[in-house]
Amino acid sequence: MQLPLSPTTQALAYLVSAILFIFALKGLTHPATARRGNLFGMLGMAIALGATLAGAEVQGYWLIGFAGAIGGVIGIVVARRIQMTAMPQLVAALHSFVGMAAVLVALGTFINRAQAGTLDALLIGELSAGIVIGAITFTGSVIAFAKLQGIMSGAPIKFLGQHALNALIALTTIALAVHFASTGSWVSLVLMTLLAFALGGTLIIPIGGADMPVIISMLNSYSGWAAAATGFTLHNHLLIIVGALVGFSGAILSFIMCRAMNRSIINVVFGGFGTDSSASGSAGAAVAAEKGVKSASVEDAVYWMEDANRVIVVPGYGMAVAQAQHAVKEMMELLQARDVEVRFAIHPVAGRMPGHMNVLLAEADIPYEQVQEMDEINPAFASTDVVLVVGANDVVNPAAKEDKSSPIYGMPILEAGKARQVYFLKRSMRPGYSGVDNLLFYQDNTSLIFGDAKDTIEGMVSSLKGGGH
Ligand code: NDP
Repeated sequence: MQLPLSPTTQALAYLVSAILFIFALKGLTHPATARRGNLFGMLGMAIALGATLAGAEVQGYWLIGFAGAIGGVIGIVVARRIQMTAMPQLVAALHSFVGMAAVLVALGTFINRAQAGTLDALLIGELSAGIVIGAITFTGSVIAFAKLQGIMSGAPIKFLGQHALNALIALTTIALAVHFASTGSWVSLVLMTLLAFALGGTLIIPIGGADMPVIISMLNSYSGWAAAATGFTLHNHLLIIVGALVGFSGAILSFIMCRAMNRSIINVVFGGFGTDSSASGSAGAAVAAEKGVKSASVEDAVYWMEDANRVIVVPGYGMAVAQAQHAVKEMMELLQARDVEVRFAIHPVAGRMPGHMNVLLAEADIPYEQVQEMDEINPAFASTDVVLVVGANDVVNPAAKEDKSSPIYGMPILEAGKARQVYFLKRSMRPGYSGVDNLLFYQDNTSLIFGDAKDTIEGMVSSLKGGGH
Protein backbone atom coordinates (compact mmCIF):
# COMPACT_ATOMS: atom_id res chain seq x y z
CA MET A 1 0.00 0.00 0.00
CA GLN A 2 1.27 3.46 -0.93
CA LEU A 3 1.01 6.77 0.86
CA PRO A 4 -0.98 8.85 0.23
CA LEU A 5 -3.90 6.44 0.16
CA SER A 6 -6.01 6.48 -2.97
CA PRO A 7 -9.56 7.76 -2.35
CA THR A 8 -10.91 4.25 -3.03
CA THR A 9 -8.66 2.59 -0.43
CA GLN A 10 -9.50 5.33 2.03
CA ALA A 11 -13.24 4.87 1.42
CA LEU A 12 -12.81 1.14 1.97
CA ALA A 13 -10.94 1.72 5.23
CA TYR A 14 -13.72 4.08 6.35
CA LEU A 15 -16.32 1.42 5.57
CA VAL A 16 -14.44 -1.11 7.72
CA SER A 17 -14.27 1.47 10.55
CA ALA A 18 -17.98 2.23 10.28
CA ILE A 19 -18.81 -1.48 10.52
CA LEU A 20 -16.51 -1.82 13.54
CA PHE A 21 -18.29 1.14 15.21
CA ILE A 22 -21.64 -0.57 14.67
CA PHE A 23 -20.25 -3.76 16.26
CA ALA A 24 -18.92 -1.58 19.09
CA LEU A 25 -22.39 -0.16 19.79
CA LYS A 26 -23.89 -3.65 19.65
CA GLY A 27 -21.26 -4.90 22.12
CA LEU A 28 -21.91 -2.00 24.48
CA THR A 29 -25.57 -2.98 24.87
CA HIS A 30 -24.71 -5.67 27.45
CA PRO A 31 -22.16 -5.74 30.27
CA ALA A 32 -20.98 -9.20 29.19
CA THR A 33 -20.00 -7.97 25.73
CA ALA A 34 -19.05 -4.38 26.62
CA ARG A 35 -15.32 -5.05 26.76
CA ARG A 36 -15.41 -6.58 23.27
CA GLY A 37 -17.51 -3.63 22.09
CA ASN A 38 -14.87 -1.24 23.38
CA LEU A 39 -12.14 -3.16 21.56
CA PHE A 40 -14.09 -2.94 18.29
CA GLY A 41 -14.51 0.78 18.87
CA MET A 42 -10.79 1.28 19.50
CA LEU A 43 -9.86 -0.73 16.41
CA GLY A 44 -12.37 1.22 14.31
CA MET A 45 -10.95 4.51 15.57
CA ALA A 46 -7.35 3.42 14.92
CA ILE A 47 -8.23 2.49 11.32
CA ALA A 48 -10.18 5.74 10.88
CA LEU A 49 -7.30 7.86 12.17
CA GLY A 50 -4.71 5.97 10.11
CA ALA A 51 -6.77 6.21 6.91
CA THR A 52 -7.41 9.93 7.44
CA LEU A 53 -3.79 10.75 8.20
CA ALA A 54 -2.62 8.80 5.14
CA GLY A 55 -5.07 10.69 2.92
CA ALA A 56 -3.75 12.85 0.09
CA GLU A 57 -5.27 16.07 1.46
CA VAL A 58 -3.41 15.96 4.80
CA GLN A 59 -0.51 18.37 5.21
CA GLY A 60 1.56 19.58 8.14
CA TYR A 61 2.27 16.28 9.89
CA TRP A 62 4.48 18.04 12.41
CA LEU A 63 1.68 20.23 13.61
CA ILE A 64 -0.76 17.30 13.76
CA GLY A 65 1.82 15.18 15.61
CA PHE A 66 2.54 17.98 18.08
CA ALA A 67 -1.15 18.65 18.81
CA GLY A 68 -1.84 14.90 18.97
CA ALA A 69 1.01 14.37 21.47
CA ILE A 70 -0.26 17.14 23.78
CA GLY A 71 -3.85 15.87 23.57
CA GLY A 72 -2.69 12.28 24.03
CA VAL A 73 -0.70 13.04 27.18
CA ILE A 74 -3.59 15.04 28.69
CA GLY A 75 -5.97 12.19 27.75
CA ILE A 76 -3.79 9.54 29.42
CA VAL A 77 -3.36 11.59 32.61
CA VAL A 78 -7.10 12.36 32.84
CA ALA A 79 -8.12 8.76 32.10
CA ARG A 80 -5.80 7.44 34.81
CA ARG A 81 -6.81 9.96 37.42
CA ILE A 82 -10.53 10.24 36.85
CA GLN A 83 -12.77 8.88 39.61
CA MET A 84 -15.69 6.75 38.50
CA THR A 85 -18.03 9.23 40.19
CA ALA A 86 -16.68 12.08 38.05
CA MET A 87 -17.32 10.31 34.73
CA PRO A 88 -20.50 12.25 33.90
CA GLN A 89 -18.61 15.57 34.19
CA LEU A 90 -15.83 14.18 32.03
CA VAL A 91 -18.32 13.07 29.40
CA ALA A 92 -19.93 16.54 29.47
CA ALA A 93 -16.49 18.15 29.04
CA LEU A 94 -15.70 15.85 26.10
CA HIS A 95 -19.02 16.75 24.44
CA SER A 96 -18.08 20.41 24.73
CA PHE A 97 -14.86 19.69 22.78
CA VAL A 98 -16.86 18.08 19.96
CA GLY A 99 -19.10 21.16 19.84
CA MET A 100 -16.19 23.60 19.79
CA ALA A 101 -14.37 21.51 17.14
CA ALA A 102 -17.46 21.69 14.89
CA VAL A 103 -17.58 25.49 15.29
CA LEU A 104 -13.85 25.93 14.61
CA VAL A 105 -13.81 23.60 11.58
CA ALA A 106 -16.79 25.45 10.08
CA LEU A 107 -15.23 28.87 10.71
CA GLY A 108 -11.86 27.70 9.31
CA THR A 109 -13.55 26.30 6.20
CA PHE A 110 -15.47 29.55 5.73
CA ILE A 111 -12.26 31.64 5.92
CA ASN A 112 -10.39 29.33 3.50
CA ARG A 113 -13.18 29.14 0.97
CA ALA A 114 -13.92 32.87 1.20
CA GLN A 115 -10.27 33.61 0.41
CA ALA A 116 -10.31 31.15 -2.48
CA GLY A 117 -13.61 32.61 -3.68
CA THR A 118 -15.29 29.17 -3.74
CA LEU A 119 -18.17 29.73 -1.33
CA ASP A 120 -21.63 28.64 -2.39
CA ALA A 121 -25.05 28.65 -0.71
CA LEU A 122 -25.06 24.88 -0.07
CA LEU A 123 -21.68 25.00 1.65
CA ILE A 124 -22.72 28.02 3.73
CA GLY A 125 -25.88 26.11 4.73
CA GLU A 126 -23.71 23.20 5.91
CA LEU A 127 -21.37 25.57 7.74
CA SER A 128 -24.30 27.24 9.49
CA ALA A 129 -25.63 23.87 10.66
CA GLY A 130 -22.17 22.94 11.99
CA ILE A 131 -21.72 26.24 13.80
CA VAL A 132 -25.21 26.37 15.34
CA ILE A 133 -25.32 22.75 16.51
CA GLY A 134 -21.68 22.91 17.63
CA ALA A 135 -22.13 26.14 19.58
CA ILE A 136 -25.29 24.89 21.34
CA THR A 137 -23.48 21.66 22.20
CA PHE A 138 -20.49 23.60 23.54
CA THR A 139 -22.20 25.95 25.97
CA GLY A 140 -24.84 23.34 26.89
CA SER A 141 -22.09 20.89 27.81
CA VAL A 142 -20.12 23.52 29.74
CA ILE A 143 -23.22 24.29 31.83
CA ALA A 144 -23.91 20.55 32.34
CA PHE A 145 -20.27 20.14 33.43
CA ALA A 146 -20.56 23.04 35.90
CA LYS A 147 -23.80 21.61 37.35
CA LEU A 148 -22.43 18.09 37.71
CA GLN A 149 -19.11 19.28 39.12
CA GLY A 150 -20.94 21.43 41.68
CA ILE A 151 -19.39 24.66 40.30
CA MET A 152 -22.94 25.91 39.88
CA SER A 153 -26.09 24.73 41.61
CA GLY A 154 -27.62 21.59 40.13
CA ALA A 155 -31.11 23.03 40.68
CA PRO A 156 -33.08 24.26 37.68
CA ILE A 157 -32.75 28.01 37.04
CA LYS A 158 -36.05 29.43 35.85
CA PHE A 159 -37.35 32.92 35.19
CA LEU A 160 -40.42 34.51 33.72
CA GLY A 161 -40.55 34.54 29.93
CA GLN A 162 -37.82 31.89 29.64
CA HIS A 163 -39.55 29.91 26.90
CA ALA A 164 -40.33 33.09 24.96
CA LEU A 165 -36.69 34.18 25.23
CA ASN A 166 -35.45 30.78 24.00
CA ALA A 167 -37.90 30.88 21.09
CA LEU A 168 -36.78 34.43 20.22
CA ILE A 169 -33.08 33.47 20.26
CA ALA A 170 -33.76 30.32 18.20
CA LEU A 171 -35.80 32.18 15.56
CA THR A 172 -33.26 35.02 15.30
CA THR A 173 -30.45 32.46 14.94
CA ILE A 174 -32.32 30.74 12.08
CA ALA A 175 -33.03 34.10 10.40
CA LEU A 176 -29.34 35.02 10.64
CA ALA A 177 -28.36 31.60 9.22
CA VAL A 178 -30.66 32.16 6.22
CA HIS A 179 -29.22 35.65 5.72
CA PHE A 180 -25.68 34.27 6.01
CA ALA A 181 -26.43 31.50 3.45
CA SER A 182 -27.87 33.95 0.93
CA THR A 183 -25.30 36.75 1.33
CA GLY A 184 -22.19 35.21 2.93
CA SER A 185 -22.24 38.21 5.32
CA TRP A 186 -19.61 38.21 8.07
CA VAL A 187 -21.83 40.17 10.41
CA SER A 188 -24.61 37.55 10.19
CA LEU A 189 -22.03 34.81 10.75
CA VAL A 190 -20.67 36.41 13.92
CA LEU A 191 -24.12 37.23 15.34
CA MET A 192 -25.45 33.77 14.50
CA THR A 193 -22.47 32.15 16.24
CA LEU A 194 -22.82 34.30 19.38
CA LEU A 195 -26.57 33.67 19.61
CA ALA A 196 -26.10 29.91 19.17
CA PHE A 197 -23.58 29.94 22.05
CA ALA A 198 -26.12 31.83 24.17
CA LEU A 199 -28.92 29.41 23.24
CA GLY A 200 -26.87 26.44 24.46
CA GLY A 201 -26.79 28.08 27.90
CA THR A 202 -30.39 29.27 28.07
CA LEU A 203 -31.69 25.86 26.95
CA ILE A 204 -29.80 23.94 29.63
CA ILE A 205 -30.04 26.18 32.74
CA PRO A 206 -33.73 25.42 33.44
CA ILE A 207 -32.99 21.70 33.51
CA GLY A 208 -31.59 20.23 36.67
CA GLY A 209 -32.19 17.89 39.57
CA ALA A 210 -33.36 14.44 38.61
CA ASP A 211 -33.59 15.42 34.92
CA MET A 212 -29.81 15.66 34.49
CA PRO A 213 -29.42 12.10 33.08
CA VAL A 214 -31.57 13.05 30.11
CA ILE A 215 -29.49 16.15 29.50
CA ILE A 216 -26.28 14.14 29.41
CA SER A 217 -27.68 11.75 26.81
CA MET A 218 -29.21 14.63 24.83
CA LEU A 219 -25.92 16.51 24.67
CA ASN A 220 -24.36 13.24 23.58
CA SER A 221 -26.85 13.22 20.71
CA TYR A 222 -26.15 16.88 19.85
CA SER A 223 -22.41 16.19 19.76
CA GLY A 224 -23.13 13.45 17.19
CA TRP A 225 -25.09 15.84 14.98
CA ALA A 226 -22.32 18.43 15.33
CA ALA A 227 -19.80 15.81 14.15
CA ALA A 228 -22.08 14.82 11.24
CA ALA A 229 -22.38 18.49 10.19
CA THR A 230 -18.57 18.73 10.26
CA GLY A 231 -18.47 15.58 8.11
CA PHE A 232 -20.59 17.35 5.46
CA THR A 233 -18.31 20.39 5.57
CA LEU A 234 -15.17 18.30 5.18
CA HIS A 235 -16.78 15.81 2.75
CA ASN A 236 -15.74 13.07 5.16
CA HIS A 237 -18.15 10.14 4.89
CA LEU A 238 -16.93 8.41 8.02
CA LEU A 239 -17.55 11.50 10.14
CA ILE A 240 -21.09 11.69 8.76
CA ILE A 241 -21.74 8.01 9.56
CA VAL A 242 -20.20 8.19 13.03
CA GLY A 243 -21.98 11.46 13.77
CA ALA A 244 -25.29 9.91 12.80
CA LEU A 245 -24.59 6.81 14.91
CA VAL A 246 -23.80 8.96 17.96
CA GLY A 247 -26.68 11.32 17.21
CA PHE A 248 -29.25 8.55 16.97
CA SER A 249 -27.91 6.44 19.83
CA GLY A 250 -27.90 9.53 22.09
CA ALA A 251 -31.46 10.33 21.03
CA ILE A 252 -32.62 6.75 21.65
CA LEU A 253 -30.93 6.78 25.08
CA SER A 254 -32.66 10.08 25.90
CA PHE A 255 -36.03 8.49 25.10
CA ILE A 256 -35.19 5.43 27.20
CA MET A 257 -34.17 7.64 30.15
CA CYS A 258 -37.32 9.75 29.77
CA ARG A 259 -39.48 6.65 29.72
CA ALA A 260 -37.65 5.39 32.82
CA MET A 261 -38.54 8.63 34.58
CA ASN A 262 -42.05 8.75 33.13
CA ARG A 263 -41.37 12.15 31.57
CA SER A 264 -41.88 13.28 28.02
CA ILE A 265 -38.79 14.54 26.24
CA ILE A 266 -40.59 17.82 25.42
CA ASN A 267 -41.35 18.22 29.11
CA VAL A 268 -37.67 17.81 30.03
CA VAL A 269 -36.24 19.90 27.19
CA PHE A 270 -38.59 22.80 27.61
CA GLY A 271 -37.92 23.69 31.14
CA GLY A 272 -38.52 20.63 33.30
CA PHE A 273 -41.96 21.42 34.68
CA GLY A 274 -42.15 20.85 38.42
CA THR A 275 -38.45 20.43 39.01
CA ASP A 276 -38.26 23.03 41.74
CA SER A 277 -36.65 20.90 44.42
CA SER A 278 -37.64 23.23 47.24
CA ALA A 279 -41.28 22.23 46.77
CA SER A 280 -41.62 19.15 48.90
CA GLY A 281 -38.36 19.41 50.86
CA SER A 282 -40.08 21.28 53.64
CA ALA A 283 -43.07 18.93 53.68
CA GLY A 284 -40.58 16.04 54.00
CA ALA A 285 -38.75 17.79 56.84
CA ALA A 286 -42.07 18.25 58.62
CA VAL A 287 -42.81 14.57 58.27
CA ALA A 288 -39.34 13.82 59.63
CA ALA A 289 -39.94 15.86 62.74
CA GLU A 290 -43.32 14.26 63.19
CA LYS A 291 -42.45 10.63 62.71
CA GLY A 292 -38.76 10.36 63.54
CA VAL A 293 -36.39 7.98 61.86
CA LYS A 294 -35.16 4.66 63.22
CA SER A 295 -31.46 3.98 63.12
CA ALA A 296 -29.99 0.51 63.33
CA SER A 297 -26.61 -1.16 63.82
CA VAL A 298 -24.66 -3.40 61.47
CA GLU A 299 -25.50 -6.35 63.72
CA ASP A 300 -29.25 -5.68 63.44
CA ALA A 301 -29.10 -5.93 59.67
CA VAL A 302 -26.84 -8.99 59.73
CA TYR A 303 -29.24 -10.69 62.14
CA TRP A 304 -32.09 -10.34 59.65
CA MET A 305 -30.06 -11.09 56.55
CA GLU A 306 -28.51 -14.32 57.85
CA ASP A 307 -31.90 -15.90 58.38
CA ALA A 308 -33.48 -14.45 55.27
CA ASN A 309 -34.56 -16.43 52.24
CA ARG A 310 -34.20 -13.51 49.91
CA VAL A 311 -32.14 -10.31 50.08
CA ILE A 312 -32.20 -7.59 47.44
CA VAL A 313 -29.41 -5.02 47.25
CA VAL A 314 -30.34 -1.65 45.75
CA PRO A 315 -27.14 0.11 44.73
CA GLY A 316 -27.04 3.86 44.11
CA TYR A 317 -24.72 6.78 43.72
CA GLY A 318 -23.40 6.40 47.29
CA MET A 319 -22.04 2.94 46.45
CA ALA A 320 -19.95 4.61 43.74
CA VAL A 321 -18.75 7.32 46.14
CA ALA A 322 -17.83 4.77 48.80
CA GLN A 323 -16.42 2.30 46.25
CA ALA A 324 -18.27 -0.36 48.20
CA GLN A 325 -18.88 -2.76 45.29
CA HIS A 326 -16.09 -5.22 46.17
CA ALA A 327 -17.20 -5.40 49.81
CA VAL A 328 -20.77 -5.92 48.59
CA LYS A 329 -19.60 -8.86 46.49
CA GLU A 330 -17.88 -10.43 49.52
CA MET A 331 -21.03 -9.95 51.60
CA MET A 332 -23.09 -11.52 48.81
CA GLU A 333 -20.87 -14.63 48.78
CA LEU A 334 -21.08 -15.02 52.56
CA LEU A 335 -24.87 -14.78 52.44
CA GLN A 336 -25.09 -17.23 49.55
CA ALA A 337 -22.97 -19.66 51.54
CA ARG A 338 -25.83 -19.52 54.08
CA ASP A 339 -28.37 -20.29 51.32
CA VAL A 340 -29.68 -16.76 51.14
CA GLU A 341 -30.73 -15.69 47.65
CA VAL A 342 -29.09 -12.34 46.83
CA ARG A 343 -30.13 -10.19 43.89
CA PHE A 344 -29.34 -6.66 42.75
CA ALA A 345 -32.00 -4.20 41.63
CA ILE A 346 -30.95 -1.62 39.06
CA HIS A 347 -32.91 1.56 38.46
CA PRO A 348 -32.27 3.09 35.03
CA VAL A 349 -31.18 6.45 36.51
CA ALA A 350 -29.30 5.15 39.56
CA GLY A 351 -25.89 6.74 39.99
CA ARG A 352 -24.77 9.63 37.84
CA MET A 353 -24.62 8.17 34.35
CA PRO A 354 -26.53 5.62 32.30
CA GLY A 355 -25.38 2.11 33.23
CA HIS A 356 -23.34 3.42 36.20
CA MET A 357 -24.41 0.64 38.57
CA ASN A 358 -23.99 -2.11 35.96
CA VAL A 359 -20.40 -0.95 35.44
CA LEU A 360 -19.63 -0.98 39.18
CA LEU A 361 -21.16 -4.41 39.73
CA ALA A 362 -19.36 -5.80 36.68
CA GLU A 363 -16.11 -4.35 38.04
CA ALA A 364 -16.64 -6.40 41.20
CA ASP A 365 -17.41 -9.52 39.10
CA ILE A 366 -20.95 -9.86 40.36
CA PRO A 367 -22.65 -12.39 38.04
CA TYR A 368 -25.00 -10.74 35.51
CA GLU A 369 -27.76 -13.27 36.27
CA GLN A 370 -28.10 -11.78 39.74
CA VAL A 371 -28.46 -8.24 38.42
CA GLN A 372 -32.00 -7.31 37.40
CA GLU A 373 -33.59 -4.23 35.90
CA MET A 374 -36.45 -2.38 37.58
CA ASP A 375 -39.42 -3.89 35.71
CA GLU A 376 -38.06 -7.38 36.15
CA ILE A 377 -37.37 -7.18 39.89
CA ASN A 378 -40.16 -4.93 41.16
CA PRO A 379 -42.69 -7.78 41.63
CA ALA A 380 -40.13 -9.60 43.84
CA PHE A 381 -39.88 -6.95 46.58
CA ALA A 382 -43.13 -7.96 48.28
CA SER A 383 -41.75 -11.45 48.91
CA THR A 384 -38.30 -10.24 50.00
CA ASP A 385 -37.10 -10.37 53.59
CA VAL A 386 -34.43 -7.69 53.54
CA VAL A 387 -33.64 -4.85 51.15
CA LEU A 388 -30.24 -3.27 51.59
CA VAL A 389 -30.19 0.18 50.02
CA VAL A 390 -26.50 0.89 49.46
CA GLY A 391 -26.15 4.62 48.85
CA ALA A 392 -29.33 4.91 46.77
CA ASN A 393 -32.03 7.41 47.60
CA ASP A 394 -34.15 9.00 44.85
CA VAL A 395 -34.65 5.70 43.05
CA VAL A 396 -36.57 4.18 45.99
CA ASN A 397 -38.42 7.31 47.13
CA PRO A 398 -42.19 6.64 47.34
CA ALA A 399 -42.77 10.41 46.98
CA ALA A 400 -42.47 9.68 43.26
CA LYS A 401 -45.75 7.76 43.56
CA GLU A 402 -47.51 9.37 46.48
CA ASP A 403 -46.70 13.06 46.61
CA LYS A 404 -48.20 14.93 43.66
CA SER A 405 -46.33 18.08 44.61
CA SER A 406 -42.97 16.31 44.52
CA PRO A 407 -40.55 17.21 41.71
CA ILE A 408 -39.95 13.51 41.12
CA TYR A 409 -43.69 12.67 41.03
CA GLY A 410 -44.37 10.21 38.22
CA MET A 411 -40.88 8.68 38.11
CA PRO A 412 -41.15 4.88 38.43
CA ILE A 413 -39.23 3.62 41.46
CA LEU A 414 -37.83 0.40 42.81
CA GLU A 415 -40.53 -0.81 45.21
CA ALA A 416 -38.08 -1.44 48.06
CA GLY A 417 -40.62 -0.33 50.67
CA LYS A 418 -42.71 -3.46 50.07
CA ALA A 419 -40.08 -5.75 51.61
CA ARG A 420 -40.27 -6.89 55.24
CA GLN A 421 -37.20 -4.93 56.31
CA VAL A 422 -35.41 -2.06 54.60
CA TYR A 423 -31.96 -0.91 55.65
CA PHE A 424 -30.57 2.30 54.20
CA LEU A 425 -26.79 2.65 54.22
CA LYS A 426 -25.96 6.37 54.13
CA ARG A 427 -23.96 8.91 56.05
CA SER A 428 -26.58 11.45 57.05
CA MET A 429 -30.19 12.54 56.60
CA ARG A 430 -29.22 14.47 53.46
CA PRO A 431 -31.47 13.90 50.46
CA GLY A 432 -30.32 12.47 47.12
CA TYR A 433 -29.55 14.29 43.90
CA SER A 434 -33.08 15.62 43.38
CA GLY A 435 -33.00 17.33 46.79
CA VAL A 436 -36.27 15.63 47.77
CA ASP A 437 -36.73 14.13 51.21
CA ASN A 438 -37.25 10.37 51.10
CA LEU A 439 -40.62 9.23 52.49
CA LEU A 440 -39.31 5.68 52.80
CA PHE A 441 -37.10 6.75 55.74
CA TYR A 442 -40.24 7.20 57.82
CA GLN A 443 -41.87 3.89 57.04
CA ASP A 444 -42.19 1.42 59.94
CA ASN A 445 -40.14 -1.30 58.27
CA THR A 446 -37.23 1.05 57.50
CA SER A 447 -34.06 1.69 59.48
CA LEU A 448 -31.01 3.75 58.63
CA ILE A 449 -27.47 2.55 59.26
CA PHE A 450 -25.38 5.71 59.30
CA GLY A 451 -21.83 5.70 58.00
CA ASP A 452 -19.78 5.29 54.85
CA ALA A 453 -21.31 2.45 52.81
CA LYS A 454 -17.99 0.63 52.39
CA ASP A 455 -17.24 0.71 56.13
CA THR A 456 -20.75 -0.49 56.92
CA ILE A 457 -20.62 -3.36 54.43
CA GLU A 458 -17.13 -4.33 55.64
CA GLY A 459 -18.59 -4.39 59.16
CA MET A 460 -21.31 -6.74 57.88
CA VAL A 461 -18.72 -8.94 56.22
CA SER A 462 -16.69 -9.33 59.39
CA SER A 463 -19.84 -9.94 61.40
CA LEU A 464 -20.89 -12.66 58.93
CA LYS A 465 -17.39 -14.16 59.02
CA GLY A 466 -17.39 -14.15 62.77
CA GLY A 467 -20.62 -16.13 62.83
CA GLY A 468 -22.91 -13.13 63.08
CA HIS A 469 -24.89 -12.66 66.26
P1 NDP B 1 -29.11 9.74 45.04
O1 NDP B 1 -28.32 10.85 44.50
O2 NDP B 1 -30.58 9.88 45.10
O3 NDP B 1 -28.64 9.38 46.51
C1 NDP B 1 -27.32 9.02 46.78
C2 NDP B 1 -27.22 8.76 48.26
O4 NDP B 1 -25.94 8.23 48.51
C3 NDP B 1 -27.38 10.00 49.10
O5 NDP B 1 -28.55 9.89 49.84
C4 NDP B 1 -26.13 10.03 49.98
O6 NDP B 1 -26.53 10.25 51.31
C5 NDP B 1 -25.57 8.64 49.81
N1 NDP B 1 -24.12 8.58 49.87
C6 NDP B 1 -23.22 9.40 49.29
N2 NDP B 1 -21.98 9.03 49.58
C7 NDP B 1 -22.08 7.96 50.40
C8 NDP B 1 -21.15 7.12 51.06
N3 NDP B 1 -19.82 7.31 50.95
N4 NDP B 1 -21.62 6.11 51.81
C9 NDP B 1 -22.94 5.90 51.94
N5 NDP B 1 -23.87 6.66 51.34
C10 NDP B 1 -23.44 7.67 50.58
O7 NDP B 1 -28.69 8.44 44.20
P2 NDP B 1 -29.57 7.40 43.38
O8 NDP B 1 -28.57 6.52 42.72
O9 NDP B 1 -30.64 6.80 44.22
O10 NDP B 1 -30.31 8.29 42.30
C11 NDP B 1 -29.63 8.92 41.25
C12 NDP B 1 -30.07 10.36 41.15
O11 NDP B 1 -29.12 11.07 40.35
C13 NDP B 1 -31.42 10.51 40.50
O12 NDP B 1 -32.09 11.63 41.02
C14 NDP B 1 -31.01 10.76 39.03
O13 NDP B 1 -32.02 11.44 38.31
C15 NDP B 1 -29.79 11.63 39.22
N6 NDP B 1 -28.85 11.60 38.10
C16 NDP B 1 -28.63 10.45 37.43
C17 NDP B 1 -27.79 10.42 36.34
C18 NDP B 1 -27.66 9.16 35.55
O14 NDP B 1 -27.34 9.23 34.37
N7 NDP B 1 -27.87 8.00 36.15
C19 NDP B 1 -27.06 11.64 35.92
C20 NDP B 1 -27.30 12.81 36.76
C21 NDP B 1 -28.18 12.76 37.80
P3 NDP B 1 -25.50 10.84 52.42
O15 NDP B 1 -24.94 12.09 51.83
O16 NDP B 1 -26.35 11.05 53.62
O17 NDP B 1 -24.47 9.79 52.62
